[in-house]
Amino acid sequence: MNKDCLFCRIVAGEIPSTRIYEDAQVMAFRDINPAAPQHILLIPRRHIHSVAALEPGDAVLMGHLLLSARAVAEQEGFAETGFRCVLNTGEDGGQTVGHLHLHLLAGRQMHWPPG
Ligand code: AMP
Ligand code: ZN
Repeated sequence: MNKDCLFCRIVAGEIPSTRIYEDAQVMAFRDINPAAPQHILLIPRRHIHSVAALEPGDAVLMGHLLLSARAVAEQEGFAETGFRCVLNTGEDGGQTVGHLHLHLLAGRQMHWPPG
């Protein structure tokens, strides 16, 4: 737990969130400023700054995070119609919260290339 980290504080329940999935390793909650009809954030409970800070020992955790995104897509009913997973990383990647998070976006046609 990093007490200065917004998402660590969400994990700890110090800041409210709309949790839609959680287990021992990860949790998922609705983005406060949705960029699509469905916009969910999946995070590891443990503080990891970003994809750039991942270590070889995080491989199972990251695989679990991605499988959890699939489970949430099925739970929320958009696994069939499609969705987008985004991992903004660092300044040029557009990352604003320094706790690794996977954006799960759905409910509209996505565009490519992203902005
Ligand atoms: P990024 O810009 O990739 O770092 O994404 C951070 C995301 O966190 C943004 O989409 C924000 O809308 C979202 N966010 C910030 N504060 C909260 C919060 N308290 N609860 C839920 N989502 C949040
Ligand atoms: Zn954190």
